[in-house]
Order: sequence, then structure tokens, then C-alpha cells
Amino acid sequence: MSTAPAPQIWFLTGSQGLYGDDVLEQVAGQSRVISDTLAAAPSVLAEVVAKPVLTDADAIRRIMLEANSADECIGVIAWMHTFSPAKMWISGLERLQKPLLHLHTQVNRDLPWATIDMDFMNLNQAAHGDREFGYVQSRLGVTRKTVAGHVSDPAVVEGVAAWARAATGLAAVRSLRLVRFGDNMRNVAVTDGDKVEAERRLGVSVNTHGVNELVAVVDAVADEDVTALVKVYAEEYDVVPQLRTAGEQHDALRYAARIELGMRQFLVEGGYGAFTTNFEDLGGLRQLPGLAVQRLMADGYGFGGEGDWKTSVLVHTLKAMAVGLPGGTSFMEDYTYHLAPGAELILGAHMLEVCPTIAGARPRVEIHPLGIGGREDPVRLVFDAAPGEGVTVGMADMGDRFRLVGNAIDVVDPLAELPNLPVARAVWSPRPDLRTSTTSWLTAGGPHHTVLSTALRREHLDDFAEMAGVELAFIDESTTTRGFAQELRWNNAYHRLAQGLS
Ligand code: MN
Repeated sequence: MSTAPAPQIWFLTGSQGLYGDDVLEQVAGQSRVISDTLAAAPSVLAEVVAKPVLTDADAIRRIMLEANSADECIGVIAWMHTFSPAKMWISGLERLQKPLLHLHTQVNRDLPWATIDMDFMNLNQAAHGDREFGYVQSRLGVTRKTVAGHVSDPAVVEGVAAWARAATGLAAVRSLRLVRFGDNMRNVAVTDGDKVEAERRLGVSVNTHGVNELVAVVDAVADEDVTALVKVYAEEYDVVPQLRTAGEQHDALRYAARIELGMRQFLVEGGYGAFTTNFEDLGGLRQLPGLAVQRLMADGYGFGGEGDWKTSVLVHTLKAMAVGLPGGTSFMEDYTYHLAPGAELILGAHMLEVCPTIAGARPRVEIHPLGIGGREDPVRLVFDAAPGEGVTVGMADMGDRFRLVGNAIDVVDPLAELPNLPVARAVWSPRPDLRTSTTSWLTAGGPHHTVLSTALRREHLDDFAEMAGVELAFIDESTTTRGFAQELRWNNAYHRLAQGLS
């Protein structure tokens, strides 16, 4: 993955020349109080950088053009401290290509009832300055998030923090290069899609290499590097006896380590942040990559099985958004159901490739036969996902656009031990209930491959979808199947109109 400069959010303050230098100095100082508060908030992922107070159209246009071209700038916060006549924002706003957050706040929390005079009134007038700004943004159709309230209110900081994480995800996907080892699984519809449109809409570059190009790198890995990585496995996981140094299948563990080292080298050398594999197209690989994929995902790489590049893009993007949050984020597949009335659950897993960031306890390294693919038994990490609130989200190509479908979920402990299930898994209860969730998901055409995250919540996804211009149909505790079906109809109309004739 690329080593990008430390991400920044630029804090822009609007005013005008009418007030005179003394007042503008006070505006600058008070603006600094707000931006410093946000900069000091640990939950705001990027560095918040205060910019000089903006008082004319030329300066506004220039700062927006600078924001566009600065790789380190992932988004812009704007606050109209005083009255900033908004015609002078038109040129700049029409050029801005980075995510925008409109912060509606003021420095003082309480009115100074006993001392308030017209000087105070003139200095602290965001109440109408921001309304002027809101008007021009809506008039221009500018996509933004609006966060209102005093910065001492945790909800305000959290609103900014969620948006900053979404902007981090957008920056990640806009610079993402994805490699597919082979094409997608034969005849499968939902894992396919328009790669040109993905690059146009999301910025991700999706390309394919023949799997034997990877095999050549895997085969060339040095034996001593394999030995060193096998030691790491023994430190980080419980390795079953037959895979240990003296075990009868130790060579399989060594080959799994060889795959990991080769894949990692291929990804690093190619500048790739995400990848796919396909069990139908393994070339000279002796095992379907399991452990390697799981460990690469834990390091932030996107992954999708069966050539599913769209889900791989989402895994990488959501992992970038979730950095530093408690919980984990993984590739996932809705696999099978527990249909006890009133206590329905989904068991999710994959053939092998579930990310250990969602594990509830130290994973075990195991080896078992795989019924499909016709290769040697693959090595994999086995664990149960930790309980907690989370989301699942998948991406479908609807032909004229990408649709994200999401669901608020509660990951729970399995109701009993699963001694015969040889893969990592998660068990969850979808909100508001399984019937409403699955009916809605199927109505939306949501995929069977998803990203499961116990680090992110709906607000992160809402903010990301908004700034990326991608539809998000989200199922949560307030969803009804009828209301959701109507929402999908409106979305069809909206998204077709919004993209015009291009
Ligand atoms: Mn699958």
C-alpha cells in the first residue's frame, strides 16, 4: 500500500471585510478555538488544519483549488463565523472536489445575558451567517454533511469524527489499486460488475494478473523466510499438533507461509491495497490461500473470494475508515440460518477467508480438506467472532449505478460449540429481525458477500455513501419491508435523475 502524507482536514472560516481588521482578528482567534478543539479530539482521525479567515471570492476559490490538488487534504470543514455573503462562495464551492462538512456552531455556549451588547451580536452571528451559507450550498446542490451544535457537545465532535473517517475511506478508495488473481467465478452474477464505472465513480483501479505470475513469486520465496514466518505463527496462534515442526503436515504450514510471503511481496511491489482469488483458478498454487488471505486482511488489505473485486474494494475502504476503533472488519458471506421463531440468527463464514480482527479469542491454525477446488488441504485460522454491535454492507452493480446495501446487526456468541466446523465464523442477529432484514436485503438485490464490521456504525456508511455519490439502502431497527421497498423505488428515480444523461 502507498505511503501517503498524513491526512489533513482544512478548517475554513467565512467572514467579510465589512467588519474591519479588529473584528476579523477576533474572528480568526475564535475560529482557532473551534479548530483546536477538533484537532485535539482523539476521535477525529485526521489533523485539523486552521486556514486564514476568508473574506472574498478570490481567496475562497483559491483555497478550494488548493484543497483539490493537495493529496494530504481529505476534506474541508466550513464555518461562517460572521456573515459571509454567499455569492462569493459560489465559484469556490462549484470547484471543490473534496468532501465538505458544514459546521454550524459558535464559540460561546451560553449567551452573556447581563453584558450582551451589539458588539457581541455582530461578532457572534453564525446563527444567520450559516443560514446564508446553507442557502447557497442547497442552491448549488453541493453535497455536504451538516453538523450543528457547540463543540463541547460530544455529539458534535462525534459527527465530525464519523465524517472524517468516511473521508479517510474515500481518500483510500480513490487511490486504491486492486489486483485480481484470475477472473470471477464462472457464471456468478453479483460478483461481476463494471470496472470502468468503478474507477470513474470511486477512483479504484481494478486489474487482473494471471495467477501463475503470483505462483512464480510464491515459488521463489526463500526457505529461511518461510521458517521465520512459521515461528511468528507459533507465537500469535495456537497451531494444531500435526502442523507443528515435528507434525506430519508441517510442510502444509510451510507452504501456507510461502503463499503469504509471495502474496505480500506481489502486493507491495505492485502498489496494491486489495486483491481477489478464485478457487476455480489457482494455476500452480498447491493450496487455496486461506491463512495468507486472513493475515493480509488483518493488515488492512481488501479481499474478496471468487474474484469478487467489489467486496474487496469495500473491505479495504471500510478498514481504512475503521483504523484505531475497537472491533474488527472482515470479508464475510451469509452462509446459513438458525430459524428458531423469534430467535433467528445468521451464521456467516467463508470457505477459509475471514479476518482475525473480528476474532473473540486467540485463533487456532488448523488444516482440513476442502471439498471444492481439487487441491491440497488448505491451512486456515479458525475462531468465533467477538459479540458486539456492527454492520454488514455489500455492493451490487445495478447496471446504471452501484448500490450499497447495509444492515445493522448484533454479533452474538454461537449458541453451542461448533466442533465440526473447520472455518472461522460469525453468528449474528440482523435488525430489526431476520424476516424484515432478509426480505429487504433480497428486495434490494444485495449480494451474498459482504463486509462485516463491529468497528463501524451506520453514520460512517451514510457519510461515505453521501460523499462518494453512491446509493446506500440501509436496514435497521426502524425498517419496515413496505417502507424499504418504497425507498428503493425513490432511490431508483433519484439516482437516475441525479446522474443526468451522462
Ligand atoms: Mn463466496
